[in-house]
Amino acid sequence: MPKAQETILEIHLDALTHNYNYLRSKLKPQTKFLAVVKAFAYGSDSVEIAKHLETLNADYFAVAYTREGVALRDAGIITPILVLHPQVTNFKTIIERCLEPSVYSPKILREFIRVAEEEKQNDYPVHIKFNTGLNRLGFWHNDVDYIANQLKNTSSIIAKSLFSHLAASEDENEFTLRQIKDFKTIAVDFESQMDYRPWLHLCNTSGVINYPEAHFDMVRCGIGLYGFGNSATEDQNLKPIAKLKSIISQIHLIEKDETVGYNRAYVSKGFEKTATIPIGHADGISRQFGNEKGFVFINGQKAPIIGNVCMDMIMVNITNIDCKEGDEVIIFDQDHKVLNFAESIGTISYEVLTAVSQRVKRVFYR
Ligand SMILES: *Cc1c(COP(=O)(O)O)cnc(C)c1O
Repeated sequence: MPKAQETILEIHLDALTHNYNYLRSKLKPQTKFLAVVKAFAYGSDSVEIAKHLETLNADYFAVAYTREGVALRDAGIITPILVLHPQVTNFKTIIERCLEPSVYSPKILREFIRVAEEEKQNDYPVHIKFNTGLNRLGFWHNDVDYIANQLKNTSSIIAKSLFSHLAASEDENEFTLRQIKDFKTIAVDFESQMDYRPWLHLCNTSGVINYPEAHFDMVRCGIGLYGFGNSATEDQNLKPIAKLKSIISQIHLIEKDETVGYNRAYVSKGFEKTATIPIGHADGISRQFGNEKGFVFINGQKAPIIGNVCMDMIMVNITNIDCKEGDEVIIFDQDHKVLNFAESIGTISYEVLTAVSQRVKRVFYR
């Protein structure tokens, strides 16, 4: 691997292949695989990731917002795309770009039917979302009659699938089993009112790993594809696809009681050595990482971020590190876990990964 010469996010598509194959190996051969590529494929690059997963025969993609689906279509992705959180204002675009909406409320259902009829659609595929305990988006069980009636009164749309989302698939067994049971009851109730059977899907990555009995017709994996399994054991079976690296732009030698950075937030305790790195809060390194909470690695040694994180750079303490200007800096990679970095400010890998801004250059390894 050539050393970084500026701030880059390396994306390893061979690791993506590995993760995809690993997750697929947990499924029955007939179970479909939906790859969640929202938020730039968890901060990597939704187009390159989707293109690669398309070559691996992923059955479906999901994004959160309509714009994300449009970007995939613009890039030539032809696999079906579920839009998890569409708004009424997006419905015409959704139909024009062959995106498939999650329908999560009576208003969304009525309005989508209205637009689909206006656009003279027949059996346009939609995905009906039920709330089984996350209390975020979705119909309630007692909406089933209403949904069935609406569907029977129009030929413009068809319920391609019914789905729900687990609230605590990585840690809470009893609650998850209750969600699985409620989802099944809803599906049986729905099917009894319709003359066709929609696909069912419930599991995210941790659901795939922990609840093989709940894979149903399709699973929806995000974080696992990017190399994280929400547990130390599963992390060992997966490979992080992204490595965030930078370089030392400049080294400063400072005396005792000198200050570093804006608002003079860091005061040196003696003769010290600092390195300035070209990555800041506009690149996704939250200000919360400042003041010695967060850290980077230089030549294998841990260098704490000192003072406030600037928009375009951080300063780190390298007093005891043998290094020079131009040396590589690792923020996270396979050996320097994003989880440890995330936990230093009390957050999770998902947030740190998706925060890496579009300004950071992506470099792909195939
Ligand atoms: C983001 C998301 C997923 C993916 O979850 P992971 O834990 O990343 O696998 C699945 N389903 C829905 C509805 C989501 O919003």
